[in-house]
Amino acid sequence: MRLSRYFLPVLKETPSEAQIASHRLMLRAGMIKQASAGIYSWLPMGFKVLKRIEQIVHEEQIRAGHIPMLMPTLQSADLWRESGRYDDYGEEMLRIKDRHGRDMLYGPTNEELITDIFRAHVGSYKDLPLTLYHIQWKFRDEIRPRFGVMRGREFYMKDGYNFDIDHDAAIHAYNRHMVSYLRTYERMGLKAIPMRADSGPIGGEDTHEFLVLADTGESEVFYDSAILDLTLGDRAVNYDDRAECAAIVREWTTPYARTDETHDAAIYDQIPEARRKSSRGIEVGQIFYFGTKYSEPMGAVVTNDKGERVPVHMGSHGIGVSRLVGALIEANHDENGIIWPEGVTPFHCGIVNLKQGDAEVDAACAGLYKALAEKGLEPLYDDREERAGAKFATMDLIGLPWRITVGPRGLKSGVVELTCRRTGTSEEMSPEAAVARVAEIYAPHTAPHWEPMAKSSFHTWL
Ligand code: ATP
Ligand code: MG
Repeated sequence: MRLSRYFLPVLKETPSEAQIASHRLMLRAGMIKQASAGIYSWLPMGFKVLKRIEQIVHEEQIRAGHIPMLMPTLQSADLWRESGRYDDYGEEMLRIKDRHGRDMLYGPTNEELITDIFRAHVGSYKDLPLTLYHIQWKFRDEIRPRFGVMRGREFYMKDGYNFDIDHDAAIHAYNRHMVSYLRTYERMGLKAIPMRADSGPIGGEDTHEFLVLADTGESEVFYDSAILDLTLGDRAVNYDDRAECAAIVREWTTPYARTDETHDAAIYDQIPEARRKSSRGIEVGQIFYFGTKYSEPMGAVVTNDKGERVPVHMGSHGIGVSRLVGALIEANHDENGIIWPEGVTPFHCGIVNLKQGDAEVDAACAGLYKALAEKGLEPLYDDREERAGAKFATMDLIGLPWRITVGPRGLKSGVVELTCRRTGTSEEMSPEAAVARVAEIYAPHTAPHWEPMAKSSFHTWL
């Protein structure tokens, strides 16, 4: 993309309404514009990041064997009356009447709709296990929307639902989700720690929230710092293998990590003092096993292998896709702007032309652009008639991880400058070497992560 032809409405002033860095930077970098309280338009660069995150979520869900679909945002109140949640949900639910006076609502979540789909089409244990998910806008009329997209009223969420024949099979689905979520966040360059959370009135131990440590987080968390050393890396996981998934879950749930709701000081105090940590965290996902809570009242039953009719065991699993954009910035920024991890950056590499209109510099920039594109990378070329300082400030603000600077002086000796946004270090090299280096850095991110994806339409979304 040429910046002169793009729509990147960066702001010079720091918006006064933004209290935290990610909100400030998203506004300043022209990623979002507030439409009304807690509701945002996603401007082109914000939209791109949102789609990159969504892409990773899809790839990892499909890799784990979960099936994508799409349910509507508007739902009928009748289904929610069946589950008993229409009255329980309270003020957070946006209730609407259609022209015929029918009660509708803008879905805050989809357990009822998915259970209705399941009961209409599935009747036998032979059709299980089944995990369906979608990525769709949700609406919760939050009393205090704030921090930009972090606590919106309208927000984008991946929510998935597993249907299993019994408790053990459903626990495997739970474990599978935990492992796939770990991989999802890792690919985004994010450390999200699974923490035992409060399962509310349902009881049991089977819910974990994934938290990104940040001073601006809304949750108070307590953990053993040993958990920070764990990584999944590029282990090949067989998602059908119950023991393998359970072992990974054990690995991540052995070090103490809890939100304040389930915090137990007596256990916490046994952690060696140097490893005992408490801080704030941003919830970027949650997994939940809830048994037959919805299947029983809503009649989602199947015939088991003994011919008996039994309610299915279910769980639901959410990732805050739009919140992640903010959380990623909270975890990756400095005083000059955003620093995107390679996995989610809106453009792979910036190209800064220091002397727009100079035939040689223009040609070198065009050559770099073409060479990067041929490697499957998306450059953002700042071809505006602007001072070098202004171009650098824009690049720093929008946070592309790599920048190639091209000027007449360097070109005389055949070099351009490759700069790393995170460390600020620059290196001179030939244009060819710069392209090769950038392509090598991105290789783990641009390779198809899941073979069938390479052939599917998902891969061409962005
Ligand atoms: P919170 O405790 O932050 O209100 P929640 O526990 O009610 O969130 P879930 O129902 O678990 O939310 O939704 C799954 C994910 O959706 C959350 O982990 C979070 O990342 C995201 N999410 C929830 N509410 C919002 C919101 N108002 N704005 C943006 N993202 C949200
Ligand atoms: Mg939650």
